[in-house]
Amino acid sequence: LYNEIIELKGNIRVFCRCRPLSSEEIAKGYSCVVDFDPAQDMELQITCSDSSKKQFKFDHVFGPKDDQDAVFAETLPIVKSVLDGYNVCIFAYGQTGAGKTFTMEGTPENRGVNYRTLEELFRISDQRSSTTRYEFYFSMLEVYNEKIRDLLAGTSDQLLKRLDIKQAADGTQDVPGLVEAQVSSIDEVWEILKNGGRNRSVGSTSANELSSRSHSLVRVTIRSENFVDGQKNRSKLWLVDLAGSERVGKVEVEGERLRESQFINKSLSALGDVISSLASKHPHIPYRNSKLTHLLQSSLGGDCKTLMFAQISPSSADLGETVCSLNFASRVRGI
Ligand code: ADP
Ligand code: MG
Repeated sequence: LYNEIIELKGNIRVFCRCRPLSSEEIAKGYSCVVDFDPAQDMELQITCSDSSKKQFKFDHVFGPKDDQDAVFAETLPIVKSVLDGYNVCIFAYGQTGAGKTFTMEGTPENRGVNYRTLEELFRISDQRSSTTRYEFYFSMLEVYNEKIRDLLAGTSDQLLKRLDIKQAADGTQDVPGLVEAQVSSIDEVWEILKNGGRNRSVGSTSANELSSRSHSLVRVTIRSENFVDGQKNRSKLWLVDLAGSERVGKVEVEGERLRESQFINKSLSALGDVISSLASKHPHIPYRNSKLTHLLQSSLGGDCKTLMFAQISPSSADLGETVCSLNFASRVRGI
């Protein structure tokens, strides 16, 4: 039933989420430039600096008052379909500070989509244990400057090893050598997430700084066997916290920072191109234009399900980036 409901709406959905104005922003005198109509949950309005208004429409809009429960309630039908053999990709897009990590990872008090999803998958798998056996394999990787890094690699030698994308015998994309940890409970996943998170910051000035410039990906591979009809399935779920989409200021544009921002721009626009080509049913999908889209090739398109969270800041100081993110997300939606 869940799949039927989603099918009717198409396989690509874009949710917009606006975080609350922070106390720092309020202290600085910034105002909120995003308005929501409480009567409906698909539209938002931006007040531009010249007081003109711009309207945007998405599959769902979450405002500052919508908590992690509300967001996950809308996400659940999509993640559930991975247990029925569908591949699923969930992305968080937006400028640094807009709430991507809050939505995906969350905090220990306010768990995000990643944790809640795994918890739910284990719960359903238990529920179905009399008819189906599920196996879950967990991987964590990072794409930084078009290089793939395995965040679960045990040693620092392995961490630095370059990983590549190869086409597997069944035509799907694979990353040979990538660690896949078999997991069977949310506590195991939580331990792994913590370890992977630690590896993320190796060699960087600060974890937060690096996280704004690299794409962080969690991959869950699910294998299932139904004892009743003998059917076997294999599907993948990708949970992606994308690099910050902000354009770097002119003064910063030199050296390593310039290289980083060129790689980020390239991969984010490649992702936008792929999803919008899929949404408009274009015959050629340009997967090979970036490591990110190549990596996700077999989980984007076909009957795979894609969800993008366009994360925005409500602050007047971020208006320019907010409009850019909303335009990007509207284009991705293919309308
Ligand atoms: P990003 O990952 O996009 O750089 P973060 O997720 O780190 O942004 O969010 C920036 C800050 O705003 C964090 O302190 C985070 O806890 C807070 N925040 C983001 N979204 C929300 C939200 N919906 N409700 C409350 N706080 C939020
Ligand atoms: Mg982040």
